[in-house]
Amino acid sequence: MVKLLITSLTALVLSLAAVNAQTGPINAASYPPANQVPDINSPQVQAWLKEVNLTGVPPTHLNVPDVKGGAPDCAKITPQNDCYSVCDECKANDDIITCGLPNSWGVTFDDGPSPDTPRLLDYLKTHNIKASFFVVGGNVVQYPDILRREVQEGHHLASHTWSHYALTSLTNEQIVAEIKWTEKAVFDVTGLKLKYMRPPYGDINNRVRFILKQLGYIVVDWTGDEFDTNDWQADNGVPAATLLAAFTKSLDTYIAGNKSTGFYCLEHDRSPVTVNLAQQFIPLGIARNLTFANVPGCQHDAQPYQSGSAHNNNTTTTLAPTSTVSGTSRPTGSTSTRTPVPTGSSANLVESMNIASAFVATVVGFLFM
Ligand SMILES: [Zn+2]
Repeated sequence: MVKLLITSLTALVLSLAAVNAQTGPINAASYPPANQVPDINSPQVQAWLKEVNLTGVPPTHLNVPDVKGGAPDCAKITPQNDCYSVCDECKANDDIITCGLPNSWGVTFDDGPSPDTPRLLDYLKTHNIKASFFVVGGNVVQYPDILRREVQEGHHLASHTWSHYALTSLTNEQIVAEIKWTEKAVFDVTGLKLKYMRPPYGDINNRVRFILKQLGYIVVDWTGDEFDTNDWQADNGVPAATLLAAFTKSLDTYIAGNKSTGFYCLEHDRSPVTVNLAQQFIPLGIARNLTFANVPGCQHDAQPYQSGSAHNNNTTTTLAPTSTVSGTSRPTGSTSTRTPVPTGSSANLVESMNIASAFVATVVGFLFM
């Protein structure tokens, strides 16, 4: 009987470990279609709209992009004195645009996860660099296992909306739907409730800021055009050498300055080309002895989610420059390798408890046979 009990308990422990690895699929069909603004008349969105207080939201003047979902054309925008980031080049006090660490590169990747993200994760692991991934909700439900891997390897997750439409072109209700569906998808996959976000194209005005704040979000932009790698342009045929030369110039200008704050660099994990380029941009920072940090590291934020904890350790890394920049440089910062484990109330925890209950019932049943 004792042997039976031990065997059953062993099986219980192994089963719990399997559940906590979170390898199960999620049902993408229960979320809105990818690359489309979610329907605001769905029961789920209507329930969210009842929870959010939009009293006092600034008036709506929808910017109309030339291309569906794209950034608005400034030549066709009537100025509204609403601190519009794209056409007025206006930043609000609450917009985070610099990394709060000296001599530092804030590592951010937008638009994923994608089938090319795992290759980037392999590279970042080699250098012990932790990034913030601004994820698109429609991609989260297509690649949940990649999202889980990001968390498990100590990276930080943030929102980049559901469909990647320019937010100033959407109604208040559509913006709520974009943010909440992405929040739900990431929570369903990881148990983490997002806290930071980046608007697609950096497209934001006071109306959008008001709604995001009501939903508990903090906006993180990139530090000016010089720190936009423009890696996406390589997908459209711009030579990598051109992009690398421009970014090298930006880095050298930064290095020549006082470096009292760091910069947020814009990269993308959206295609084979951009993931290849990341592995050419980052060595430029390694060679210049920069510290690499994600948003929690840059902002000194020990609670980088609205709820849930991923124990994002090792958020800053300084690599010794090498003459070869071949991926063999050793981390000189913290060498802790604790694996982050998502916690908080999640469907997976409930699932674990149900399996535990089933096994206890089985064991008790055997004991009383
Ligand atoms: Zn984007």
